[in-house]
Amino acid sequence: MIWDAKHESMPREELRRLQGERLKAIARKVYDRVPFYKSKFNALGVKPEDINGIDDIAKLPFTSKDDMRDVFPYGLLACDLKDIVEIHTSSGTTGKPVVDAYTQGDIDLWGEVMARTLSMGGVTAEDIVQNAYGYGLFTGGLGAHYGIRRIGATCIPISGGNTKRQLDMMRDFGSTALTCTPSYSLYLAEAGKEEGIDFSKLPLRVGFFGAEPWSESMRADIQAKLHIKAYDIFGLTEIIGPGVAAECECQDLLHVFEDHFYPEIINPDTGKPLPDGEKGELVFTTLTKEGTPVIRYRTRDITYLTREPCPCGRTAVRMHRILGRTDDMLIIRGVNIFPSQVEQVLIKMDGVEPHYQLLVERQGTLDCLEVLVEMTEGLFSDELKRLEQKEREIEDKLREALLVHSKVKLVEPKSIPRSEGKAKRIIDKRSI
Ligand code: AMP
Ligand code: ZN
Repeated sequence: MIWDAKHESMPREELRRLQGERLKAIARKVYDRVPFYKSKFNALGVKPEDINGIDDIAKLPFTSKDDMRDVFPYGLLACDLKDIVEIHTSSGTTGKPVVDAYTQGDIDLWGEVMARTLSMGGVTAEDIVQNAYGYGLFTGGLGAHYGIRRIGATCIPISGGNTKRQLDMMRDFGSTALTCTPSYSLYLAEAGKEEGIDFSKLPLRVGFFGAEPWSESMRADIQAKLHIKAYDIFGLTEIIGPGVAAECECQDLLHVFEDHFYPEIINPDTGKPLPDGEKGELVFTTLTKEGTPVIRYRTRDITYLTREPCPCGRTAVRMHRILGRTDDMLIIRGVNIFPSQVEQVLIKMDGVEPHYQLLVERQGTLDCLEVLVEMTEGLFSDELKRLEQKEREIEDKLREALLVHSKVKLVEPKSIPRSEGKAKRIIDKRSI
């Protein structure tokens, strides 16, 4: 079902005109109200009056994650603080988090784009949606919540975790739809099987999974184990949270809600826009957001776009599921992790060298992180008991810094391969 046929199926020429008008208005607004953007525009010698259509977007400056951190917490605000009704931040644990501040208008927009997302999988007012995305600062829980409420479906705001209760609720309340990360859906499937649940007998029929990368083979697995249709949904805190793009009933590529979030693909090295079909870095401009509008945000996610017509009748451009990242960010159990965080912990400890590798594996359905750390010659000659103590000590420190548990293994001095170029810090064995 198409939730907002007027906008989702708008003839492309009309859509481009609408985008052009909206871009013009947002460029004017950020120039007048956000000093950060005024100086960025000025540095490039571009003025709001230079923007007369959507193609002029290439004249505008990019915004990076570092820019956002530099102006923490309120530096991107384009309205009075009193008009902000809710604040969310990213899960990132490096430095300051990225802030998204929403006006009531932004919250209404969020409900709309999430209603579009859920409608793509056939959710209506008749459905009972078990929302197992985490509620709180993370955008997943409340973003999905607003969409479920907008459609008028019944929401079970169970949040993440507590697997036994999830399964009981699913059975007792007869949930027909599930929203959570793809890895958690598989965990639910396995835990349910152990409890003797036959998912083919439950009313559950559809799921909306995102917030981390997954693959076609994982989709097949989820669909077979839970006896549902599984849809990929995409979003990021910097833009609005979930509700930026989603798969339609064709389950092939994700329609971007481009009347609100305009996507571009650029060459990450040169910043030059790339044509449809070519892989590069995904960039978004928010065309209608009021609280914290963002111009040409570089997501560091890699994908490509296509404007080929889709059989569903929606005209919005589609993106391929995320193919990778331009940086070395890892997402483990929904938490963003950078190798540099591990380095910062190791540098402050004695007995170890800042030579390390992160080994990521999927054990069953959960991602496990093992950190190999080189010890100094001095520690190497110590007793085994002392080494074990050291491993526990590093594990505790890493847990504090990364917010996820990892297993630390001390390895002999000089055993981690050295590289002349970029060090290979990550060995990702997840087959996704
Ligand atoms: P956060 O703002 O903390 O929710 O993280 C946003 C990031 O999560 C995005 O930039 C992507 O790297 C990743 N992400 C979100 N949804 C998906 C998805 N469906 N597939 C792959 N990666 C995703
Ligand atoms: Zn479609």
